[in-house]
Amino acid sequence: MTAPLLETRGVWQRFGGLIANSDVSISVDRGEIVGLIGPNGAGKSTLFNLIAGVLPPTQGSIIFDGEDVTKLPATARCARGIARTFQVVKSFESMTVIDNVIVGALIRTTVMREARRKAHEVLAFCGLDARADVLANQLIPSEKRRLEVARALATEPKLLLLDEVLTGLTPTEAQTGVELVRRVRDTGVTVLMVEHVMEIVMPLVDRAIVLDLGKVLVEGKPADVVRDPKVITAYLGD
Ligand code: ADP
Ligand code: MG
Repeated sequence: MTAPLLETRGVWQRFGGLIANSDVSISVDRGEIVGLIGPNGAGKSTLFNLIAGVLPPTQGSIIFDGEDVTKLPATARCARGIARTFQVVKSFESMTVIDNVIVGALIRTTVMREARRKAHEVLAFCGLDARADVLANQLIPSEKRRLEVARALATEPKLLLLDEVLTGLTPTEAQTGVELVRRVRDTGVTVLMVEHVMEIVMPLVDRAIVLDLGKVLVEGKPADVVRDPKVITAYLGD
């Protein structure tokens, strides 16, 4: 057994009186696609913020690739191989598509020519190379999601955190997204993805972890998770 790529150990996040994450311990193995699901407000995006270092946890620790990264800032975690997309797309709207991706690539190299080459490679992988020179704000929503993924991939992550990148897309666009996630995993990148809509994510993931009210409710194989009465109740109450 090799150690997991990512572990959260007893992680808590309090916002004043609100407990967004409550004693969350999860692990993700190398090469897996893991789905993090749960109703709105369950604490999924908060957990991503704790893993990526956007927020320090109130309590608990984050272990990545054998190292305790709990006290490291987001940039240091990115350098170690954690990349994330944001639920609310954070592209630099007034920059071109290629420049958005170069921003990601610059974490690995300071040579501009090398960063540009990497950015083009990643854009091609994400099916966006033809859009390289348009402004990010000219993209349609599904392209903006792929741009987020491209920028994250340009940092050459070991772990890619995807926050609702398939939500709100047409069925065809969502399918393109699903295939992109599979291809990302096939390149050796481990994926932890948040999706609110179970139908989209369940056929894609190796394992699902359900958060509800800030706690891990259930985890297991997708087919077992969708049939679990606790999961059904949590979603019906949503
Ligand atoms: P999810 O992504 O599962 O929908 P979130 O992690 O975004 O859930 O939110 C979990 C809870 O924490 C919600 O009640 C939300 O309002 C609250 N919350 C999230 N971020 C903050 C913050 N920065 N300050 C205060 N409350 C927050
Ligand atoms: Mg969220």
